[in-house]
Amino acid sequence: MKKILYSLVIILFISCSTAKNNTGSMSSGFNPVVAHRGAFKKNAFPENSLASLQEAIRLGCRGSEFDVRMTADDSLVINHDPEFHKLPIEKTTYKELTAFTLSNGEKFPTLRAYLLAGLQNNPGTTLVCEIKPSTISKERAKLIAERVYRLVTELKATGRVVYISFDYDILKKLLELNPKVITQFLDGNKTPAELKADGIKGADYHFSVFRKNPDWITEARKLGIVLNAWTVNEAADMNWLLDNGFDLITTNEPELLADIVKSRK
Ligand code: MG
Repeated sequence: MKKILYSLVIILFISCSTAKNNTGSMSSGFNPVVAHRGAFKKNAFPENSLASLQEAIRLGCRGSEFDVRMTADDSLVINHDPEFHKLPIEKTTYKELTAFTLSNGEKFPTLRAYLLAGLQNNPGTTLVCEIKPSTISKERAKLIAERVYRLVTELKATGRVVYISFDYDILKKLLELNPKVITQFLDGNKTPAELKADGIKGADYHFSVFRKNPDWITEARKLGIVLNAWTVNEAADMNWLLDNGFDLITTNEPELLADIVKSRK
């Protein structure tokens, strides 16, 4: 049973990730590349912009990560920091926040706009949705998780989305809403066995956590927990993770990682 479940998870991730008509260079074979906040760096796009998401899709990344927060009037928006142009997102209305644009002129993106863009002309890039912990309360964090889940469902994007969070209760809330959603934990303080027991499918930890706990790599493999590491920008670290059979690597340098994966074949 365990083996069958693990196979289903792998098939789902792979089916989300196998590009058919991709213009990018990562479309065939093993592809662990997850673009952190989209593929922003090489072209100097803003992080978490539609431009960086579309570039990750164009490159054929296996996944493109982004960060979700909720405004004071309950709009779901994409931003890494708790503040946007010095305005605290959770205490400011969406309209007030849209007084500012991203550095490339894009409108401050809502999750709806981001998901719609991510579903368009996207043959194989999984949308890796990080739900940020609330700066206000644990309760609000769970409410955000529920709102995100409802929107993903409304847009029929469930099969294209993997949820990640530093807030364990956010992941548990998502699993309460739908035990089949794919979740990965970010904080690095749970063993693979603990994740497994709670129905969490992946360990997406800072790569130093795995260097300190190499036995977790073996344990995760044994239990069918997907291995992902962030944020890996140096070739030596990428090679170490590839040597250790990581399924996914989250990076600000998707082009470099893709070249390394190709050169190792
Ligand atoms: Mg993030």
